[in-house]
Amino acid sequence: MPGQRVDTILDRLRGEGIRVTTARRAILTVLTEHAGPISVDDLASAVQSRAPDVHRATVYRNLSDLEDLGLVLHAHTGHGPVMYQLASGARSQLICESCGTTIEVGPELFSALARRAREQYGFVVHPHHFAVLGRCVRCS
Ligand SMILES: [Zn+2]
Ligand SMILES: [Zn+2]
Repeated sequence: MPGQRVDTILDRLRGEGIRVTTARRAILTVLTEHAGPISVDDLASAVQSRAPDVHRATVYRNLSDLEDLGLVLHAHTGHGPVMYQLASGARSQLICESCGTTIEVGPELFSALARRAREQYGFVVHPHHFAVLGRCVRCS
């Protein structure tokens, strides 16, 4: 239930004494409804279609605030745009360098890698921070 999820996040913000503005509500609503990574341009357009008085610069600034609060994550996608998504239930992307097909995958795909990196190097992997580039089944 997207509406419910946004309300839960907004309650958490209020509980931490953070002001819930129109921009923040709109950003979190779009991220919840989109259910997957979205570029900042698409996010800003979607926010403006709900809340026309929210300027793009406000969207960028609030997005960065929400990242600092740990609610939002960004991912680099090779030659593509940086993508944003909610931190809870974050997905990683496999992107075909030939046709651009994107496959969203859960963190379980990286669990063996994450475990070995931690055990052997004491290193904590953030698999959602970078997309994995390669070739899809049709292009390989
Ligand atoms: Zn980064
Ligand atoms: Zn492909």
